[in-house]
This record gives sequence, structure tokens and C-alpha cells, in this order.
Amino acid sequence: MEKISDYKEIIEIIKEKGGDSFKYCYQCGKCDAVCPWNIQSRFSMRKLVREATFGMTEIEGEDIWKCTTCGKCSQACPRDVKQVESGIALRRIATEYGIYPPSVNPIRAIRSGLSGEGNPFFEDRMKRGDWAEGHGVKAFTKEMEILYYPGCYLSYDPRLKKVAIATANILNKAGVKFGILGSKENCCGESIRKTGDEELYVQLAKENIKTFIDNGVKRILVSSPHCYHTFKNEYPEFMVHFEVVHIAQYISELINNGRLKLTNTEFAKKVTYHDPCYLGRHNGIYDEPRNILNKIAGLELKEMADYREDSLCCGGGGGRIWMDTPKGERFSDIRLDQAVEAGAEVLATSCPYCIANFEDSLLSHKHRDDLVIKDITEIIQEAI
Ligand code: SF4
Repeated sequence: MEKISDYKEIIEIIKEKGGDSFKYCYQCGKCDAVCPWNIQSRFSMRKLVREATFGMTEIEGEDIWKCTTCGKCSQACPRDVKQVESGIALRRIATEYGIYPPSVNPIRAIRSGLSGEGNPFFEDRMKRGDWAEGHGVKAFTKEMEILYYPGCYLSYDPRLKKVAIATANILNKAGVKFGILGSKENCCGESIRKTGDEELYVQLAKENIKTFIDNGVKRILVSSPHCYHTFKNEYPEFMVHFEVVHIAQYISELINNGRLKLTNTEFAKKVTYHDPCYLGRHNGIYDEPRNILNKIAGLELKEMADYREDSLCCGGGGGRIWMDTPKGERFSDIRLDQAVEAGAEVLATSCPYCIANFEDSLLSHKHRDDLVIKDITEIIQEAI
């Protein structure tokens, strides 16, 4: 039987791991009202916060692993409770004790892949730059304008390699002097950090930072909002600063300063844009992707029911991209419904996790023949 001292000890550990803001909660329940889990199943952030306040959290349960870190709760909270950071604090405790419920078990293999090969797929580190062969991509040198960092999914996933290639084609068309680090690149570490593995995150981040400094990197172009977020907002914790730009911002910059010219080739389709959580809610980038799409001849932009600040999470953040989510509980299924209801033929976005989840949902979706998933670079590529 637990003693009061056990509860006190857990409260102290939560505090020490960064979850102290739980104490501000006054149980209004606004977080539960906006949480995407509650559209189809059930998850109570309010309850999790309450239990943690009294040191009564079930560290061995599934609940602490459900949060996708989408940020909707923090946006709605009147007490500035940092639910995402506090939830990660609970995961840090579970990780420290090696406690993973069944749906979280894949994380064990992911950790080995990241630690050994620098990617979550256990793919050969030396093959990281293979996607670029035959696409006019050079190894990065310090005289170049920008480092292109495609990240793990665009480097290895067959579907997402097409996005890396589209990006390279756009950069070449605009005459950008860019290069990649290939096998010298590591996973950015963002998602493993959100699973509570701070030690592995620090290892990956330090190796990347050393590589960037050794190679004279000043400006980094990324395709993933998760890489964007961690390079821009989390790596500065190591007292370093690199200028980070997401591809949606960079294409916008290239078009505005006349380096990238769009042709009159029509993309006569109805397109809806999905705001990835880590580009939109976490970093406030809503306009650039829409501005780019609106410049394409013939393209008709439609908005879905939940967009911009209210965008529905795809379900892949917070390390959930590596965990099992049963059919019937996947947010990505609902997002496809919303895209079809908006009258879209193309669901466009600018995040590898969103694309992976949407493509997966589309395989068994009733509208699989009516909708196509594209990264914004794949649409731009057709218009240059
Ligand atoms: Fe507590 Fe904030 Fe959730 Fe309200 S919205 S229950 S104050 S965490």
C-alpha cells in the first residue's frame, strides 16, 4: 500500500523533471474540450493534471503516452498550464524506469536505431544521402548559401523521398547554391525527446551541432516542422544559434525576390491545406504555405472545418508516429473526411509525419479514389 511519502516523492520527481506548472490547474476542463482524442475515444488531460498534482499518476498506464503534443490544450488553457512539457516530464519518469505499455513498445527498437544509425528505421547511416543521387545535389561546403537538411523520413521513406527530390528540383530551378550533409546528418531528436528520452536527444543534438559547426553551417533549410521546431527553439538551449528556415518560408522568399518563377502551367485542382501542429500552432507559420498555393495558376484553395490555429492534429507528434493507434481512433481518418467535405481533390501539407499518416489512412478510406495527398513542394514542382 502506498504511503503519503510515496506520493510526495512522485510530486518531487515530476517537479524536478519539469512538470511543475500542473499546480496552476483549476480543473475547468477546457483542455478536454479541445483535445482531438475526445472526438472518437476518450482521454482526459484534466484528469492527468489532477492526478499528477497529488503524485497519483499511473506511470505504467497508457494515458501518459496518448498526448500527441499538438498544443491545442495549451492554447485553450486559461491558467497557462504547460500540459505538453508537464506530460513529457511524466514520460521521462517512465523512460528512466524502462516502463512501456504494449502500444509504446516499438519505442525500444526506435531508440536503438537512433542511437546506432542516427535514424528511427535502423537503416544504414551511410545510405542517408542516397535519395539525392542523380538530382544535382552536392555535398555541403561552407561557401554555399544554405544547408538542406531533409531529415530521417525524407531520406529513407520511399514515399517521402519524392518530397526531398521535389525540394532539390525547386532549389536547382531557383539557382540556389545548396548542399546536404548525407551520412554526417543525424536525426534531429525532436520526437524521441517528446517520448521522454532526454539522454538520447542530447546525444543526437550534440552530434548534429558539432557537425554543423565543423562544416561551417550558418543557415539550415528543413522540410519537417519537427526539425524546424527543435533546431530553432530547442538547440539554443546548448548556447548555439543557427538560422533555420522551413521550406514553405523559403519558397515564399524565393518567389518574392524573383529567383523562383512560376509558369502558367495550370494545376486546375481543388486543394485544401492541412496546418501541421509544429508549423502552425507551435511556430505560427500559417500564411506562407497558403500564399504559395494561391500563386499557382488554376489552383482553387479550400479550407477544411478545422484550420489555422484550430487545425486538427494528424496524430503523429509527441512520438506517436512510432506507436500503434487502433483503427477508429486515428485523427488522420477524420482529417481525410474533412478534406473531402471541403470539396478538395488534393490534401496538401508540409510535414512528413502528416503525409505518412494521411497516406496510411487513405489506403482503407472510403474516398481513397477521390483524394490525393501531396507535399506543397510536389505541387510547386509541377508549376515551375
Ligand atoms: Fe487545468 Fe488548463 Fe485543463 Fe483547465 S484547461 S483543466 S486549467 S490544464
